Amino acid sequence: MTVTVRFAPSPTGHIHIGNSRPALFNWLFARKEKGRFILRFDDTDLERSKAEYAESIEKDLRWLGIEPDVIERQSERVPSYDAAAQKLKDAGLLYPCYETPDELERRRSRQRALGRPPVYDRAGLKQTADERAAFEAEGRKPHWRFVLPNHDGDPFETSRTDVTWDDLCRGSQSVDLASLSDPVLIRADGTYLYTLPSIVDDIDMGVTHVIRGEDHVANTGVQIAIFEALGASAPIFGHHNLLTTRDGEGLSKRKGALSIGSLREAGLEPMSVASLAVLTGTSQAVEPLPDMNALVEKFDLSSVSRSSAKFDPEELKNLNARLVHDLPFEAVKDRLTGMGVGGGAGFWEAVRGNCETVGDATLYWQVVTGPVTAHVDDEDRDFIARARELFPEGDVTEDTWGAWTAALKAETGRKGRGLFMPLRRALTGMDHGPDMKLMLALIGRQNSLDRLP
Ligand code: GLU
Repeated sequence: MTVTVRFAPSPTGHIHIGNSRPALFNWLFARKEKGRFILRFDDTDLERSKAEYAESIEKDLRWLGIEPDVIERQSERVPSYDAAAQKLKDAGLLYPCYETPDELERRRSRQRALGRPPVYDRAGLKQTADERAAFEAEGRKPHWRFVLPNHDGDPFETSRTDVTWDDLCRGSQSVDLASLSDPVLIRADGTYLYTLPSIVDDIDMGVTHVIRGEDHVANTGVQIAIFEALGASAPIFGHHNLLTTRDGEGLSKRKGALSIGSLREAGLEPMSVASLAVLTGTSQAVEPLPDMNALVEKFDLSSVSRSSAKFDPEELKNLNARLVHDLPFEAVKDRLTGMGVGGGAGFWEAVRGNCETVGDATLYWQVVTGPVTAHVDDEDRDFIARARELFPEGDVTEDTWGAWTAALKAETGRKGRGLFMPLRRALTGMDHGPDMKLMLALIGRQNSLDRLP
């Protein structure tokens, strides 16, 4: 059977680096297993779901290097959910409940006061057709609950029923269905909560592995029971730890914190974002990998740790700088052209070691082409004037700097910082930057002489 996975965001906001973790885990898993990756929009919440968010999620995933094989939308599949709901109703496994949210809350408070777990007592399941008709006559609409298989024939006599699965990240897991309330699958307004559509899709789309955040562990016991009630076998599950910032603060989609769009706009490389999102919170070292193939090689769900995956947003900058320092010219050529940066491979190789982002190259291109405001301290004026006179004849090459500074050293007795820094400042307007031997060759004779007053 072809390995099939899905990333299933609700298009109710932009995705952030934390959401990219399950997306990438599924993508890498599919690549590793030569399987299929479905992008499924969980958009049954019509009020909060927006087409613009779905578009931005697609764009962000593609930027990260994720190319879905198929895109599905739950809003287009409601008849399949209706059919599954009918099947459960026919089997007596989906029953109407007429309590209002207030009534349910009061009931739960009473249970808590008595020291009992606030589990729904299946009152709806006891109601007769007449009682239901009376609620309907009052104008009440039912919500619908699934009867969990936590009993031996009498649903009012529940007994411990462990659902177990071998989790790809967490090892053996189990949930006692007797500790849970029957889940609501259909709201009183007739719309579906996420649970049933997700299961129906996973069945219809042949999903073999569900890889998602550990916030879904408790749902999994319920979902396995519903897969079975629909006559399907459940997929294999893997629940990974969630990415959080150092102080343990979760990342919220709606706050826009560390959104993929903002990281892209900050000029970060997709592979530094992907490397951090995947490798944080695993037993592997967090290092910037050059491409998706290298990340596929490194990726291993069993290396995901049980504690949370904490990261410092500053780490992203370091990873990005490390990645940029090794980027070959071919990889950045078109982007440099787009930014108006010339100089070919020679320029890129001279400056990349000083760039945190590829965009920083524009700064050094400006240094090469000018204008540059020369910076000369008063005590260096004579030295700079002499430097102008001793500027070597002929073509400016990578050897010119060595010959020039050797001549200046012999003539003035200056050495080290006192020799090099005034020249760097005059020629580049900065007191740090790429190797001057390369910069001088790029700046060339005329620009150099113009900057030596
Ligand atoms: N829409 C769900 C979420 O974003 C999907 C969970 C799942 O992968 O099953 O949490």
